[in-house]
Amino acid sequence: MLLTWSTTDLLVLMENCRFFYGEQTIPFMHSYLDLQAYAQRRMGADMSQQMGLSRACEALGISEEGSDLHRALDDSLLTAQILMKVFEPASFEAAVSPANQEFYDRITFKTTIISDIDSPLIQRSELRFACENCGRNLKRTSEWKFRNRAFFAEFHCAGCGKDYTGRIQFKQKYEGIEIKKRLAERVKPEAEEASGQADPPKEAKEEP
Ligand SMILES: [Zn+2]
Repeated sequence: MLLTWSTTDLLVLMENCRFFYGEQTIPFMHSYLDLQAYAQRRMGADMSQQMGLSRACEALGISEEGSDLHRALDDSLLTAQILMKVFEPASFEAAVSPANQEFYDRITFKTTIISDIDSPLIQRSELRFACENCGRNLKRTSEWKFRNRAFFAEFHCAGCGKDYTGRIQFKQKYEGIEIKKRLAERVKPEAEEASGQADPPKEAKEEP
């Protein structure tokens, strides 16, 4: 079983196996565990951020004294000490992956953001939004634009007259398409409303 602290080193090792042996897999690896992800979960840490080895040692009360960080042997020894602290048989076994084809497909899959609104991967029904106020289906009043890794379009509710900017992002992951949608009400400046002029298409901005 091979354990690494995050998958970065695993990918480098795979690259080396390709270069030196012409192999697409790591010949001596039968199963794998990303100890960083496992340790973070066991420590109840925020999974959206990767925890560095040093921080994990600190959090677990492991002394780094005498260790030379980013040296292969010392990093391995520290990682082993972390494993001893967080190890629990059932969760550990559940986190181990056999190094089969599915494992390599998953680990080498490049997550991409879909930037073509006509992509066959996008279901047309996903592009609809409902009014947050009255629940009606909104009518799209502009073309879709791709900006900041997401699509934007303007919408209007025929029921209550509200205007919205819809944002939608399609992320193609190994598991499938992940969709994030957000609707923001657009309030017209009073002057424009009074003059009754049609709004020029506004540039949708992504919220911070
Ligand atoms: Zn409405």
